[in-house]
Amino acid sequence: MKDLCGRTVDYLRLSVTDLCNFRCRYCMPEDGICKRKHQEMLSVEDCIEIGRAAVHCGVRKIRLTGGEPLVRRGILEICRGLRAIPDLQELCLTTNGSLLPELAQPLRDAGVDRLNISLDTLRPERFEQMTRRGMFEDVWRGVAAAQAAGFTNLKFDTVLVGGFNDDEVSDLIALTMDHPWEMRFIELMPMGPCASWDKSCFRSVNTILQGNPALQPLDTQGVARRYRLPGAQGTVGLISPVSHDFCDGCSRIRVTSDGSLKGCLHAREEISLRGLHGETLENAIRHGILHKPQRHHLTERPSDTPRNMNQIGG
Ligand code: SAM
Ligand code: SF4
Repeated sequence: MKDLCGRTVDYLRLSVTDLCNFRCRYCMPEDGICKRKHQEMLSVEDCIEIGRAAVHCGVRKIRLTGGEPLVRRGILEICRGLRAIPDLQELCLTTNGSLLPELAQPLRDAGVDRLNISLDTLRPERFEQMTRRGMFEDVWRGVAAAQAAGFTNLKFDTVLVGGFNDDEVSDLIALTMDHPWEMRFIELMPMGPCASWDKSCFRSVNTILQGNPALQPLDTQGVARRYRLPGAQGTVGLISPVSHDFCDGCSRIRVTSDGSLKGCLHAREEISLRGLHGETLENAIRHGILHKPQRHHLTERPSDTPRNMNQIGG
């Protein structure tokens, strides 16, 4: 289905929880968040029903996110329910990777097609510093488990944070020589805890091209401009939501873990889907798609959304 700007909207990012076992400094407060009442959040059945209604409205790809989707009770049931929807072409999941040692194979068996793993650093002590409670070794074991389960086309998402991991870009890119992975670099977006960070933390991903001149342009896939090192098995993706906004080609809608539809990650406007069913639910989704905001305003001001990223899903 097309929105009023003529963009085809066929991609839903569904947040299945706002809880997380990490506390990444740019995403969540150190003490975590107040656990909301069960009845305020989407149930397993709600997630599947919203997915089905979205597919009726033209969505062909669903990504499960969070918070950390793998801490969500019933995550495998949600995956199985969504996978059974006729016309859904791709079911993906974005994770911090820490629970993949136990869950990679069950996720594969439940019908997940692709995994994105967030990985901001390859240095264990930095990893602990950034995530405040994560262990690099768990994620690295998770990567091995994902590969063993058949997720061969892994994508890794690194948020580029000036003064924290900008000296590791070449090490991360070097992984593509021997692995068919896509290493993606994403600009830090000023929202939630990082909205007040020093501007030196916010770097354009274009600086990566200056620092790695051997990267050769390949194509554009979704929101990523892709490059390859000569002879590499994998690719490098640059995602620049701030410096080079991709709103003109945006195909996404989002649903938060408490059931609000957002046409744009950074917009204040939301439509509550909780308690809606059948035709009413579909009509609300159609309305949200049609009135998807034309663009965000991150180049002029911080995000307009009062929510933190863990509630929306990145
Ligand atoms: N917990 C899962 C994970 O970390 O992959 C899924 C949810 S997390 C909110 C999704 C993605 O958003 C992660 O790759 C994370 O690094 C990214 N993210 C969070 N806050 C961000 C920000 N302010 N700017 C850019 N990316 C951000
Ligand atoms: Fe959790 Fe992902 Fe946010 Fe880190 S980025 S705190 S892993 S939701």
